[in-house]
Amino acid sequence: MPTDPQLKPWIEELRPYVPGKSKSDDGRTLIKLSANENPLGCSPAALDALRDPGNPADYPDPGALELTKAIGKLHGIDPALIVCGTGSGELLHCAVQAYAGPGDEVLFSQYSFSLYPLITRKVGAVPVAVKDENFVASVDAILAAVTDKTRVVLLDNPNNPCGTHLARDEVRRLHQGLPGNVLLVLDQAYAEYVDDGMDDDGLVLAWEASNVLVTRTFSKAYGLAGLRIGWATGAPAIVAGLQRLRGAFNVSTQGQNAACAALADQEFVERSRQANARGRQRLIEAVQALGNHGLRAIPSQANFVLVLFEGEVTAEAALKVLADAGYAVRNNPSPALPDALRITIGSEQHMDDVIATLRQLCGEAA
Ligand SMILES: *Cc1c(COP(=O)(O)O)cnc(C)c1O
Repeated sequence: MPTDPQLKPWIEELRPYVPGKSKSDDGRTLIKLSANENPLGCSPAALDALRDPGNPADYPDPGALELTKAIGKLHGIDPALIVCGTGSGELLHCAVQAYAGPGDEVLFSQYSFSLYPLITRKVGAVPVAVKDENFVASVDAILAAVTDKTRVVLLDNPNNPCGTHLARDEVRRLHQGLPGNVLLVLDQAYAEYVDDGMDDDGLVLAWEASNVLVTRTFSKAYGLAGLRIGWATGAPAIVAGLQRLRGAFNVSTQGQNAACAALADQEFVERSRQANARGRQRLIEAVQALGNHGLRAIPSQANFVLVLFEGEVTAEAALKVLADAGYAVRNNPSPALPDALRITIGSEQHMDDVIATLRQLCGEAA
């Protein structure tokens, strides 16, 4: 008999989530372009809602009813089919836990949200990373990787860290090719940033199909990452499964109130979306202009751009000069992407500084 408590072997293999940095190696506080937070903050209406503390002695509404109603109204979804979570991270975890366990396989594209292998291992399941196609998830490769042990496919669309996006038809084709007993999770954390007309129709698929779950978050375009609120929708049986697994009082009263206020201020979301589209375009063009130095920007539909360093200028050197200039960006955005940085779209001033710093590093006039 062991004399100490023994971690489950699959927990032993688990590597904790590595968040984006906000400090330099020498301890200076940096402007954070490493966690895809909203540079405009959040809606003033959400801030107003946060000024009313309610009665902190009372538990929050366990079902977040007002919030599910407000989400349902905005997106045309029956509130009974919406489950809220402590960030969408909780709901992604519940989805994997509900459908996969020891020995089962969970599929995702090789460069995907770094939480996916973690939540897969947490439940004892086996993460299967599938090769992409030019930094875009490959429907053919995912379908070819399905075995009789596959229980869940996780697709972040847009993808983090690449920023790439699978078109509606491709998402449909993926769904049609999957066995009915495999849950397809469409993680739409960046859906609000997708260009007009490019929506992947995940919510429609979640409504029609019996094996699709869509997750959304208030952490990105709504600028409420600190409050930890996400939501998910899918077929009644899937939502019921998540309702059993989620924390009983998983969204705080203040979080529920602020999220309701934020939903009512779509003008803020639109402003965030437009500012992001401008900054994103600008950063992509500036990086492409440094193509002769081996820098390459992957086309993005999100609020960040993945920059590859394929020449003499290294990602490590860029990380350092950006830190010297006061900016934290995401290095090693995926274990398989050591020569890349993921840069969140910040304010215009932030983007000016980042672009000038990269140009100087390449020996070009800022
Ligand atoms: C940021 C992000 C989320 C959001 O996580 P929350 O728990 O809602 O803050 C979900 N999925 C992906 C791919 C993300 O990048």
